[in-house]
Amino acid sequence: MSPSPLLHVHAVRKQFGKQVTAAGVDLQVANGEFFTMLGPSGSGKSTILRMIAGLEHPDSGRILINGQDVTDLPPWRRDLGMVFQQYANFPHMTVAQNIAYGLRRRKLDREAVRKRVSELLDLVSLPGFEERPVTRLSGGEQQRVAIARALAPRPRLLLLDEPLSALDEKIRREMQAQLKDIQRVTGTAFVYVTHDQEEALTMSDRVAVLNWGHLVQVDEPHALFRHPRTKFVATFFR
Ligand code: ADP
Ligand code: MG
Repeated sequence: MSPSPLLHVHAVRKQFGKQVTAAGVDLQVANGEFFTMLGPSGSGKSTILRMIAGLEHPDSGRILINGQDVTDLPPWRRDLGMVFQQYANFPHMTVAQNIAYGLRRRKLDREAVRKRVSELLDLVSLPGFEERPVTRLSGGEQQRVAIARALAPRPRLLLLDEPLSALDEKIRREMQAQLKDIQRVTGTAFVYVTHDQEEALTMSDRVAVLNWGHLVQVDEPHALFRHPRTKFVATFFR
């Protein structure tokens, strides 16, 4: 790990009533890395991602991006994008309008916006889709629009919360390869949340296995598979 990681989550705790959802989480993600948080439902994945995004505030601990403490900053001041399970597009807008929304904080003229939208549509393999109403697209296509919108302002970090789990098996497999390509081509660091072991093992540079708000092991996929450090990890990978 480089001396100054892109993302540094330091001793982060979060509790809802008696339920400890993040029990002192430490993790570091490098520039351009594909980092996955893997764990069963209820293990705290979304809560940790939402704290990184600034949608939830930790009870204690700090979050640093690019060496800057962002713990008390709102989401839009964190140099990151986010993609949710349910492609959160604006239903009354076209594809181009949805993606351009991701650029609203940039002072770009119309031509620059048009050019960037077209570039992004090429990136997510939807060339020429600008004028389509977003609700007419398939689930996989809508999710690709959401990814294009999140990447529009060129964040260094993209957070993805089970982005493929609403899609059917065949589309999901195709989109895995496509997402991996997008990540590599853009050099964006991904923090990717899933409960799907196969997905985590095939896509990631490193995987953090989460159980009851604890990161039980953080390793490269082959190491997790061959040298599980706890019984939970071993059972989780069968
Ligand atoms: P995962 O994404 O791994 O399924 P979550 O982070 O969504 O896990 O949830 C972890 C635990 O925290 C769950 O028990 C959930 O009920 C609880 N939790 C999450 N958000 C809230 C909230 N806003 N209020 C109360 N409990 C919450
Ligand atoms: Mg979740």
